[in-house]
Parts: sequence; C-alpha cells; structure tokens
Amino acid sequence: MCGIAAFYGSNASLTTYKLLIELQHRGQESVGISIIRPDGIRNVVRPGYVVSAISPGEVCSLTSNLAIGHVRYSTTGEYMGRLGAQPVLIGDGGKQISLAFNGNIMNYLELSKEFLGVKPSSDSEVLAKLIFKFTEDLGDAVEAVRKVGVLVKGSYSLAVMTSEPRLIIARDPYGFKPLAYAAGDGFVAAASETASIESLKLGEWKEVMPGTIISYDGKSLEEVRSTVSNTFTPCVFEYVYFSRPDSIFNGVQVHEARVRMGIYLGNLDNEVVDVVIPVPDSGRSAALGYSMSRKVAINEGLMRNRYVGRSFIMPPTMRDFFADTKYGVVKSVICGKKVAVVDDSLIRGTTMRKIVRLLRDGGVGKVYVRIASPPVRYPCFMGIDFPSRRELIASKTYDISLITKAIEADSLLYNTVEGLKQSVGLPSLCLACYTGVYPFADVNVDCLEKTFSRL
Ligand code: SF4
Repeated sequence: MCGIAAFYGSNASLTTYKLLIELQHRGQESVGISIIRPDGIRNVVRPGYVVSAISPGEVCSLTSNLAIGHVRYSTTGEYMGRLGAQPVLIGDGGKQISLAFNGNIMNYLELSKEFLGVKPSSDSEVLAKLIFKFTEDLGDAVEAVRKVGVLVKGSYSLAVMTSEPRLIIARDPYGFKPLAYAAGDGFVAAASETASIESLKLGEWKEVMPGTIISYDGKSLEEVRSTVSNTFTPCVFEYVYFSRPDSIFNGVQVHEARVRMGIYLGNLDNEVVDVVIPVPDSGRSAALGYSMSRKVAINEGLMRNRYVGRSFIMPPTMRDFFADTKYGVVKSVICGKKVAVVDDSLIRGTTMRKIVRLLRDGGVGKVYVRIASPPVRYPCFMGIDFPSRRELIASKTYDISLITKAIEADSLLYNTVEGLKQSVGLPSLCLACYTGVYPFADVNVDCLEKTFSRL
C-alpha cells in the first residue's frame, strides 16, 4: 500500500509535493518525485518522510509543468531500501516513462519471465518495464497500460508520466485501491485519496472508476475503459484502517463507515464498562460509534506521540521499537475503571499487548479489548503487508480465549464479517483476509506466501 500523486499544470512539482504530504499516512519508507524537463524526465527519490527527505526549497527549484510522486509502504522487496522506491524511471533520451504505483502484482515473476526475460527486483519495476515495452511495441502509452491491465493479476492504482509529455492515471478493474482526480482549465491533479485532492481546493473532484484509464497531454483529457470486466472488489481494509477518515472511497465517507463499525460492534457487546477509550488515531472513529451504541462516555485514556508515525506500516524492527514509545496513559481517565479499548483491527497482537500492559501499569480496573473488524486469518497479496499466516495472531488459533490471553486482556470482542459489510454498505468488497475467499479464481496461498513472505 502506497500513496501516489500527480499534477499537470503550472507549479507541478510543488503541487505534487503538497499532495504527497497529505498522503504521508500511506507510506513512510521513501518519497519520490519525477518531473519533466526539456532534456528528459528527472527523478528525485529519497528514504524517509516527505518533508524531511525533500525540502520545500528544493521542490521549488524543480520547475516543471508535469510531476508525479510516490510515498512508499513496501509490501514486497526491501524495507526502507532504494530497491522498490518509486517513481520507477525507465528509458533514456526522448523515450522515457516514469511510474508511481500503489498495489501489488501477484504474477510479476511470471510476467517478467514471459515478456522481459530478466529477474526483477520488484513488481513496480516489472510494471514500469512492461508499460515501456508495450508503449514501444504499440506506439501508444494508453494502449500499453490497457494491455498491462489484461495481463496482471493483482491490484493497482497508478500514475505514468511519459516524455511526450503525457500524464496517465489508471485504476485496476477490481477497484482495489483508491484513486481520485480533479480536472479544470489547464490542469489535472490526481491522488490516492480524495482528502489529498481536497487540500488543493481545486473544486470538484471525481473518483477514477475501476478499470478506467485517464490520459492528459496538457490540452485534452481522454478516458478509456479497460477491456477486462471483473467484479468490483475494493479493499475493505481501506475502510478499516488505511484511508484517512476524511477521505471518500467509492462514495463512502471513511469516518462514517468506521463509526458504523463501532455501532455494530457495540450492539454485539454486553460487558459492563465505565469508559470507552480509543486507540489513537486508528480506533477513534469506531470508538465513537461504540460509545454511541453502548451509551457509555468516550474519553482520551491513551495519548499518542505525534512524532512517531503509523507503526502498522513500519518495518518489523522499527514497529516493535516505536510501539514501546508511541503511547502514554492518562491515569485519571482509566485508574480503577472497567475500560473498553477500541481499535480498528488486531493483526499481530504485539502492539495491543503493549497497550494492555501500559493500562495495567496505569492502574486500570479491567481491560476489555474491542476490535471494529473481524479476525484477520488469511494473508493479503493485493497490497497490504501481511502476506503470511505466520504473522497473524488469529490465524494461529480460532479460540478467542487464547488470543485474549496472548494480548493479556480481560476480554476480547471482534466485529463480524456481516457487521463489517453492513458498515461499509457496498454491494461487493474484497474480504479475503477475513474469509479466505480471494477475488481471483486460482489463488495458491501456500505458493504466494513463499513468494511474498518477508519473515
Ligand atoms: S485481502 Fe484484505 S487487505 Fe488484502 S485487499 Fe483484500 S480486504 Fe484488502
């Protein structure tokens, strides 16, 4: 899962930079911006957060009327390394493309073997090289993106810059990942999330429809449909955790979906509690809904260190280290109380165990852990970094009492799959990590675990 941004118009580099700042929650490992100059495409790719890796002053010096950008959360390849960092720049001289991509290509090794004949370092490299190759073969980058869409098995939302110059944005036919754009007099802006686009105050925006390719050459905007028709299966984890609450994904306000998850969860619960506390910030919207349905006051019992990023998307060694320093306890709120601690999801269980221990050290009476989504029991190969069942606490056992014991809570309650579906309210969703039913016909979980596992 990553964030992508693009802008075609005046001040493209600075505008893309602003879009990326608003997408920082989607990737913390590296940031990159590609710009176009008379002598070709130039790439600036660095490890770290957007504003610490590239200063606003440096961005202002990258004058261009077309830019694409990327913040990386790796799901394959190296953590924090240059390999896999994006945008990926291919070609030289007057024939170049640059790609910023959010998603995961399950069959990238096979595609590389069949069409490129090289051992690739990442799925993004394969995607970029295929688009470049097919652009050469077909003489048109839009047709190249369309052809790639037929061949890949996986998820993608992408932005491509060509040296024509042209900007192409596309969303896969399943609609796994979000992508939105705004177009006006002489400009097109695109970003992974609507909240990022809205920050530019450009007026009306649209979500890119699944299976749609949009192309802009500075004069005319063209929209092309993919030849692949598939069931619409957006990633439900965008609603559970990934997207910003102020974003809209497939017409659903993410905050409202999370509040409904909390309401549904609260309706399943009959434990007597004194106070509801959210795990900040990921559990905040669901905790509000839970508090509303239980008619129990919500309060801030946990404080999050604002200078520590999202631990879920950190590499494992950093995740454990920062989970220790990330939270503090407001003792006056929790001391001697029966506390319902609400979070969006429980993946590995390590962070929640640390939180429960913190609350006990702070003098809590009882700790009831409440999770706004169902148990994650199956790996994801479509862009979220839990590609192995070994990482998932709920994959190891179906006995909730054992999970409760592992996280050292007094009780544990999950939402149900039905509760999650109703809360989002769309007719179809990808729920594979909860149900084991993948949107693709022939998913060999054992084989894919070997390909993508980084344990
Ligand atoms: S398996 Fe889960 S995390 Fe992966 S795309 Fe489907 S819903 Fe999202």
